Amino acid sequence: MLGCRAVRALCRSGQLRAALGSNRARLIVAELAGSGGSGGPAAGVVPAATNGATSLRDKTTVAFPPPPVACSEEQPVWTDQVWASPLDIRRRVFCNRSLNMKSISAIGFDMDYTLAQYKPETFEALAHTQTVDKLVKFFGYPAELYDLTFDHTYMCRGLIIDKRRGNMLKVDRHKYVKLAFHGFTPLSREDRMSTYNNADKREEYDEPHFALIDTLFSLAEAYLFMQLVELKDEPGSGLPPGKTYADIYRDVRGAVDLCHRDGSIKREVAANPEKYIHDDPGLVPLLDMLRRSGKKLFVATNSLWDYSNVVMNWVISRRKGADRDLEWLKYFDAVVTGCAKPRFFSERSNLFEVHTGTGMLWNTEGGSPMVPVGEEDLPTPILGSTAPPHVQHAPGDRARVFQGGYYLDLHKMLDVSSGSEVLYVGDHIFADVLRSKKALGWRTLLVVPELDAELEVLAGCKGNAEELRMLRKQRDALDDQIQRLEWQLSNAPLDADPSHDMDGSAGGAASEEEAAAYHDMLANLRQQRESLRERHRALLRSHHELFHPVWGQLMKTGYQNSRYAHQMERFACLFTSHLSNLIFYSPFKSYRGKPDVMTHEDELMA
Ligand SMILES: [Mg+2]
Repeated sequence: MLGCRAVRALCRSGQLRAALGSNRARLIVAELAGSGGSGGPAAGVVPAATNGATSLRDKTTVAFPPPPVACSEEQPVWTDQVWASPLDIRRRVFCNRSLNMKSISAIGFDMDYTLAQYKPETFEALAHTQTVDKLVKFFGYPAELYDLTFDHTYMCRGLIIDKRRGNMLKVDRHKYVKLAFHGFTPLSREDRMSTYNNADKREEYDEPHFALIDTLFSLAEAYLFMQLVELKDEPGSGLPPGKTYADIYRDVRGAVDLCHRDGSIKREVAANPEKYIHDDPGLVPLLDMLRRSGKKLFVATNSLWDYSNVVMNWVISRRKGADRDLEWLKYFDAVVTGCAKPRFFSERSNLFEVHTGTGMLWNTEGGSPMVPVGEEDLPTPILGSTAPPHVQHAPGDRARVFQGGYYLDLHKMLDVSSGSEVLYVGDHIFADVLRSKKALGWRTLLVVPELDAELEVLAGCKGNAEELRMLRKQRDALDDQIQRLEWQLSNAPLDADPSHDMDGSAGGAASEEEAAAYHDMLANLRQQRESLRERHRALLRSHHELFHPVWGQLMKTGYQNSRYAHQMERFACLFTSHLSNLIFYSPFKSYRGKPDVMTHEDELMA
């Protein structure tokens, strides 16, 4: 008979549902929760209690299907594994470029904000607090900074910091600035246009003068920078004299780096991982499923071994402190820490093997440990671990852990001959997705946690998109009519019959009355156009405010794709709100992209 843990694992993986039917599977999970069996209550049971579902002992029927769990900061919808419907759009994996998973032999994962989803309200707040502390203690900033508070909801990914001007920008896919704030004050349309859109030279919005907020890790420092911009503009604010906005940005970055170097953030996360990292009950069943499919799994993270071990212990085994062990390594074939992405994809670097007990590094030759000078054999901790060209990983074996290296080292370990055999899952559009795809041809899956909320809002305002489209169509038709009439009135004598003018077959000049009638018509059309423009502006504004009161919809700028969405489309083969959503699909699924639609085709189909 199956033990409680095994039954829960089956429930989470969907196998139990397949075998017994959803209701029966749910009842068993509910009973397990009530029985206080080993391993604590199944995470998927929480929704049953909140939905008023009864346990098996009540001998009553549970309604099916259960409603999806409400999205909240404490329990994001993606953590609801048992009750999730594969058809729920928030759990979908979306496809930009077709990908047949049968051709994928190795799947790699970034760790931070991919395998481990941090809680911005606590994690980014911690980063903000610690950065302020460093600015005061080491960069000469006034103690008044300790009074600054952090709003984790204010900033979003995809924004761009203009370091020289102290501005925050939202840019569309054509690099046209649609929203601009100086500190927290919006720029006037005139200032925005003259500074960015009508300038002699179009900006590329890249380093060194601009910084992209393309990871959730950047939200706190971006917010703090804007706070300091406001302070700098205040006379007598106490900020170090003579600092430019760019200097302040550099100080903030330096303080953030210091937080990472001195371990102040990592220590706090290690002590209280439950406070900073979301629980994801779908993760282990997903890794189990992928391993059963025969694919090799690896972790490639920029975090070093000590912190990676803390985070992975928590997300996989729920272990912390003295309870931490190395069991999580058995889910992977190789783990590369400190791999310095995106350089990992383009520059050779020494590969070290990490001795997981002590954290010491051993030199390697392509992943194989080297005997130190003066020694007869390898040091005891890794004696006998000299690896063949690829990692031999039997079920239950723990992955070997490395630091640094180059993507070819990884290919060798995993016995991968072509980049197209690798699917890499990450959250950073540049470091994880863009470089690996462009340089190596790796297939990519971008994790976008914000997509959950974005889809939820979109689903609630489907009518807006159609109304906006109609308003734009009417406005454009009026525009066209007005422009043609204006041209005609200014360039040709009016004929008694206006149809002659329209096709260029005009006869004599129009009378004064007729000319006045045309001008009245023009004025009327202009009035209609202005009314339509205002309706469109107001609806577009209110539509965006449904997503975010300041920055609007993540994927759009106005009614065009945002720069962030544009990069997603170009470089991410797949994207989804959470890694665990993969569990709703076969590990051999053939993902198919949508057909491309050009503007003229869209016009015909509308
Ligand atoms: Mg990451």
